[in-house]
Amino acid sequence: MADTILVIAEQREGKLNRVSLETIAAAQAIAAETGWTIEAAVFGNGIAAMATELAAKKLAKVYAIESPKLASYEPDGTVAALKAFIGQKAPKLVLMPHTYQVRDFAPQLATGLARTLISDVIGFHKGDGGKLVFTRQMFQGKFAADVSFACDPPHFVTFQAGAFRGDKAEAGSSAAPVETVAATIADGVVRNQPEAPFKEAKQAVDLTQAEIIVSVGRGIKEQKNIELAKALADALGGEIAASRPICDAGWLPMDRQIGSSGQTVAPKLYLAVGISGAIQHIVGMKGARSIIAINKDAEAPIFEIADFGVVGNLFDILPLLTEEVKKAKAGS
Ligand SMILES: Cc1cc2nc3c(=O)[nH]c(=O)nc-3n(C[C@H](O)[C@H](O)[C@H](O)COP(=O)(O)OP(=O)(O)OC[C@H]3O[C@@H](n4cnc5c(N)ncnc54)[C@H](O)[C@@H]3O)c2cc1C
Repeated sequence: MADTILVIAEQREGKLNRVSLETIAAAQAIAAETGWTIEAAVFGNGIAAMATELAAKKLAKVYAIESPKLASYEPDGTVAALKAFIGQKAPKLVLMPHTYQVRDFAPQLATGLARTLISDVIGFHKGDGGKLVFTRQMFQGKFAADVSFACDPPHFVTFQAGAFRGDKAEAGSSAAPVETVAATIADGVVRNQPEAPFKEAKQAVDLTQAEIIVSVGRGIKEQKNIELAKALADALGGEIAASRPICDAGWLPMDRQIGSSGQTVAPKLYLAVGISGAIQHIVGMKGARSIIAINKDAEAPIFEIADFGVVGNLFDILPLLTEEVKKAKAGS
């Protein structure tokens, strides 16, 4: 399997993680430059439906790596299964989404094969001699570093959520063949007994799945004013989110925070309302397809990454915008 890119997709409780599709889009972008073949693998127990879902994408082959020992995620069994599979298939590149789960097992997997891992990658390009160079952020996104592998393949790379667009993952003209691989995980390998998956809070919202996000910052001034932004989010059918000071103040729950210490999102539309655009915020939302910023300061850094900017007082703009959205919806 020389010159193959292997995408390890992530599934949980019968659902493919959205960032897995972004990783397929990344693989397709790399394949367009290199001509390499793309295959994908998903692991778990009883995962045929997810393998079939993956097979709809433009891939040469999909592997369903199955074992009852992989029913609930834990790192030892996962690493044993993937190490054997990757060792046998010998792909050139192994791409994974940079999820919490992948962060948990990927270093053990890469070092188990005496290889290194370039993590949390946001892009790639071809360097000297056609070598693949990967870009990753450092120091809270203040610097971007170009990194390449000096070791032999397989090369392990994880992609940051939002670095590529999942909806750009190309579908195949026909379904890719699916092969079920029975993983053998020797007794005694698994040293952990997984407990029920951690759920952040009862009302926790997964903003990574939201298509429209209205996000408020310190410009909103008081907790009660958040209602203005909520009204706009409701009119648009979107979710409300915030910069860190808003969540630190307890004005919105922590699971609504966007940024380096909050969630990383890539919605179709991100409205930044009264947010200055600090780097720690931007790293969490710059993957949005369209960014609209409303800020009274024309010099606010948020305008550097905004697709559309409104310089003005949010207290004037939000009610008008909400009204217009409602009117447009009523008319359509
Ligand atoms: C280790 C670390 C991790 C961090 N993690 C995060 C993170 O995950 N997420 C995050 O968001 N931040 C994070 N921060 C904080 C970050 O550095 C900024 O302090 C924060 O993002 C600023 O929030 P803000 O834009 O809401 O507030 P401000 O920077 O105070 O900006 C408020 C903006 O509102 C505008 N404004 C004021 N009044 C109005 C009005 N009436 N109409 C229109 N505009 C108005 C102002 O012009 C200003 O631009 C982190 C910091 C550190 C050190």
